[in-house]
Amino acid sequence: MEELKITRAAVLKEKPKSSDLVFGQNFTDHMFLLDYDSGKGWHTPRIVPYGPLQIDPAAKCLHYGQEIFEGLKAYRTGDGSIQLFRPMDNIRRLNRSCARMCIPVIPEELALQGILELVRLEADWVPREQDTSLYIRPFIIANDGALGVHASHKYLYAVIVCPVGAYYPEGLNPIKIYVEGEDVRAVKGGIGMAKTGGNYAASLRAAARAEDKGYSQVLWLDGVHHKYIEEVGSMNVMFKIDGKVVTPDLNGSVLDGITRRSCIQLLKDWGYEVEERRIAVEELFQAAASGKLEEAWGAGTAAVVSPIGELAWGEQKITVSGGKIGPLTQKLYDDLTGIQWGRLADPHDWIMKL
Ligand SMILES: *Cc1c(COP(=O)(O)O)cnc(C)c1O
Repeated sequence: MEELKITRAAVLKEKPKSSDLVFGQNFTDHMFLLDYDSGKGWHTPRIVPYGPLQIDPAAKCLHYGQEIFEGLKAYRTGDGSIQLFRPMDNIRRLNRSCARMCIPVIPEELALQGILELVRLEADWVPREQDTSLYIRPFIIANDGALGVHASHKYLYAVIVCPVGAYYPEGLNPIKIYVEGEDVRAVKGGIGMAKTGGNYAASLRAAARAEDKGYSQVLWLDGVHHKYIEEVGSMNVMFKIDGKVVTPDLNGSVLDGITRRSCIQLLKDWGYEVEERRIAVEELFQAAASGKLEEAWGAGTAAVVSPIGELAWGEQKITVSGGKIGPLTQKLYDDLTGIQWGRLADPHDWIMKL
């Protein structure tokens, strides 16, 4: 592998107190960069002081959205060491997103090097307080400085990291969800399975409308029938109905979440039947009406699990689990966070020590 060049920041930033952290706002002193040029491949891995990128105003990412990203965390364990949770799953998904967006894939070890070396250099930035972590944001942008709708010849892979505070400083509060009947996040054959900016831009309007109505997230329905449940906000969604757990299958427009996978594995370990299948929103509301909808939650790296306490679909409203977190949602949270912070055994080899 090409040698990594490190240019250290002349002045280091003051580290914020964990209680002052706002998600995604406090970036560390350095970032990792790696270039791609067609004919040359990925080259020149380097760590440089964190700061603005120089980018050609005609760069394709700015005009045509050819870009992708990932999100994962580094956790500080009780003995002070640092560990990652399933990072190879993120790297493989990064490359699946690349394939969909016509971006050249990155050798896995090179993508991993960028993450590990940066976290090593910024180890002091991994906070120590309960439930805090270092959020890691790898991304790739097409930066060919030429208009014209075709795949770029130049790319930049970058990794930036920021400490994040406890997601639930006051305990796991259930969220209120609005079922979006008009806008869709993604369609089959589109780019919903890729972690690419356009999906999130497409989601903003519905999220803003839901917020205006007093809801914190949107439940997305499929783009063809506006009938089948896909995701909640930018999380996967799971339901406990009549003792079984059901979650939308990976149909092409649903993102293959690593938290989703991990929940499914733990649930199976515990003897639950887990069905990955199409779920009509009507089925969900009927299950609620007949008392069979026991729990509902979102699953994603940022929150781990996010209990759903209320759902509104047009004029219909349902309360889930009495508006409180359900016992299975709580157990998933406790066990997943237990593995991530090293408090519990790791039976599936999900942890990578730094
Ligand atoms: C990132 C993401 C998720 C969750 O994936 P994790 O790997 O669990 O963090 C779910 N849905 C969407 C749309 C996402 O972008």
